[in-house]
Amino acid sequence: MSVPRIGVLAMQGAVAEHLARLASLEDITVCRVRTRRELEGVDGLILPGGESTAMAKLLCDFGMMAPLAARIRGGMPVWGTCAGMILLAKEIVGEPAHLGVMDIRVRRNAYGTQMDSFRTHAAVPQVAAEPLELVFIRAPWIERAGADVQVLARVQGHAVAARQGHMLATSFHPELTHDTPWHAYFARMVRDAATDGGRA
Ligand code: GLN
Repeated sequence: MSVPRIGVLAMQGAVAEHLARLASLEDITVCRVRTRRELEGVDGLILPGGESTAMAKLLCDFGMMAPLAARIRGGMPVWGTCAGMILLAKEIVGEPAHLGVMDIRVRRNAYGTQMDSFRTHAAVPQVAAEPLELVFIRAPWIERAGADVQVLARVQGHAVAARQGHMLATSFHPELTHDTPWHAYFARMVRDAATDGGRA
């Protein structure tokens, strides 16, 4: 098997931070994704945090929304962090969905102004043996998860990380902490899919 290539959608948001975390992993290559051609060349994609409405507008302006949704529906592993999770959701409270591929309902800016940004720790046994530091910035939470969705982490009773097959979503920003368990976990998802012939 060739070395899998993981892309970071580079329309807007925390792109450099994800690339930096990925760079410390072995046996993958990484790149930015801005065009359809770049999208075709990756085995997995990270949708970073930022502003979901701005990213959705840019995806539409660059003609990337439909091709991206098609690749995800075709089995390409994808991981949405914060705004990226909002892009993936089938339902967004009070607004229309964007990619609409993952069976979750999310509430934007769910923690309200008094908790706009905070750090906490949570146990995530599927991802790491030790509790992980989680960084929330104007974060969404998951209000409903479909039957095929496995909730990986909860904070204050709310689901903040979930997986549905080849799709991973986190409310928080693992690219802003120094360790890389989430990036390693996603890289394993990409390797597994590439082994199964996941490249389109
Ligand atoms: N509040 C942003 C949104 O709704 C997400 C914030 C983030 O990605 N850190 O898109």
